[in-house]
Amino acid sequence: MTHQLPDLPYSKNALEPIISERTIEFHYGKHHQTYVTKLNELIQGTGFENSTLEDLILKSDGAIFNNAAQVWNHTFYWNCLTSPGNRAPEGKLMQMIIDSFGSFENFKKEFAQAAATQFGSGWAWLVVNKEGKLDVTKTPNAENPMQQGLKPLLTCDVWEHAYYLDYQNKRPDYVEKFWEITDWEKVAQRL
Ligand code: MN
Repeated sequence: MTHQLPDLPYSKNALEPIISERTIEFHYGKHHQTYVTKLNELIQGTGFENSTLEDLILKSDGAIFNNAAQVWNHTFYWNCLTSPGNRAPEGKLMQMIIDSFGSFENFKKEFAQAAATQFGSGWAWLVVNKEGKLDVTKTPNAENPMQQGLKPLLTCDVWEHAYYLDYQNKRPDYVEKFWEITDWEKVAQRL
């Protein structure tokens, strides 16, 4: 099986001014593409040639794991985003957020805290935990909450390549703006 770079679910300038077309050109066009290309090279001649990304995340390690997880994480990230607006979750998802975090504001604070305190490269996540409640978590480098039996609903890429062109070193500014482009409808579909 040859892994492919999936199409973006919007045009390259759709997230402006929160995430610039230039960031998308590098982040999607170069970084995400390179993970796909490297993964296809690495699985040649291994027992992983026909494995799905999900299988690779759960069963591989080292370079194959890193590239497979980064392909999955980036595709998931692009599918968490949409054009800027005044956005908030609705219905059952909003109720679950209130039940789990006390309020939407509290959830955003916890998520921003996870994003800010992930030292170096990684990801902040909203997940469904094993008790069926929502949780915020963070993972280093390419790691994914599915490895711990958690179900990802939303992620924010906090590798510097995700925000440096637009926000330089100010990761918290990027995370604050992230809420304007969060696609809560897609998040709710994952419940
Ligand atoms: Mn990235």
